[in-house]
Amino acid sequence: MTPNDREQKVKSLIDKLCLTRDLKRSEWTELIRERTPASAEYLFERARAVRIRCYGHDIYIRGLIEFTNYCRNDCYYCGIRRSNSNAVRYRLTKEDILACCEEGYRLGFRTFVLQGGEDGWFTDERLCDIVSEIRAHFPDCAITLSVGERSYDSYKKLYDAGADRYLLRHETYDAEHYGRLHPASLSASHRQKCLRDLKKIGYQVGTGFMVGSPYQTPENLADDMLFLSRLNPQMVGIGPFIPHHETPFAHMPAGTAELTLFMLGLIRLLLPRVLLPATTALGTIAEDGREKGILAGANVVMPNLSPAQVREKYLLYDNKLCTGDEAAESLNSLKTRMEKIGYHIAVSRGDSLNI
Ligand code: SAH
Repeated sequence: MTPNDREQKVKSLIDKLCLTRDLKRSEWTELIRERTPASAEYLFERARAVRIRCYGHDIYIRGLIEFTNYCRNDCYYCGIRRSNSNAVRYRLTKEDILACCEEGYRLGFRTFVLQGGEDGWFTDERLCDIVSEIRAHFPDCAITLSVGERSYDSYKKLYDAGADRYLLRHETYDAEHYGRLHPASLSASHRQKCLRDLKKIGYQVGTGFMVGSPYQTPENLADDMLFLSRLNPQMVGIGPFIPHHETPFAHMPAGTAELTLFMLGLIRLLLPRVLLPATTALGTIAEDGREKGILAGANVVMPNLSPAQVREKYLLYDNKLCTGDEAAESLNSLKTRMEKIGYHIAVSRGDSLNI
């Protein structure tokens, strides 16, 4: 095939995706492997049109509260892994967390995302107590949890305490690839079981994966897309892998903004009504990553609401942004940046149309 033939083929696969939302594994692989700058532009135009049809020019915001960086797990890519003895550990109190929500509410946030490592200190009892207090104080807000793998019972208790949504990236669908990113105590199948449990309980679920994680192939990404299609989550978070200097992957190359943007566009076409954040990792790897993410089909941003003194301790990867437009206090400058590209930030819970 000539380069021109290849480009035509990629464009025809994008058309097919747009029309049918159903590609075979080999088609996903080809689409990802053979992409070009021109086919990416073609994709982004279509992804934007779909996004605008579903969500207009609204951008939903979520206030991210990183409430503990203690973690029992040892994921090879993550800066807060258990084996990183140089990480300075912290845990916020219930009062700290409520103060973050208070400040967030004042700024216009109507969704709070409580994210943390898998910290045994936060038993069901303690976490439920925090969730129910937030629920009582902020009845018009959505509460999202992102605290990793727990039992069905634990997820159910948290849901009954008032949590509405749960973010748990599947990281990579393929069991063998998963095994190269995690120690043997963790498995792709258990992670996927957690996602099914969360859905069964009634949570609005977010999943996702890293782009350009070590050893990732176009076939792995194809499997991720097929998994997303089957799970049909309300939200999909993806961002480039970025190395952290105190992990086994310190010297692995980072993922690119280019492939991350392409995957964002594909996800928008596959799941038109999905909530799709332009993530912090994308903003870290490219100066205008957030804007480009929105222009590739994303419709959510998640500024950091954690107390300033703990922000740099939640270091999942090197140079992770936590100031400037990343910080919830700078909402005005984020607003201006988004308005420059024709989009505006909505003060609302920002529920998915896909419920
Ligand atoms: N303990 C929670 C939260 C994990 S941190 C959980 O298990 O879900 C949130 C996400 O950050 C992870 O799911 C992972 O996809 C991403 N992440 C971690 N380390 C990263 C790195 N080095 N580069 C890019 N993203 C990373």
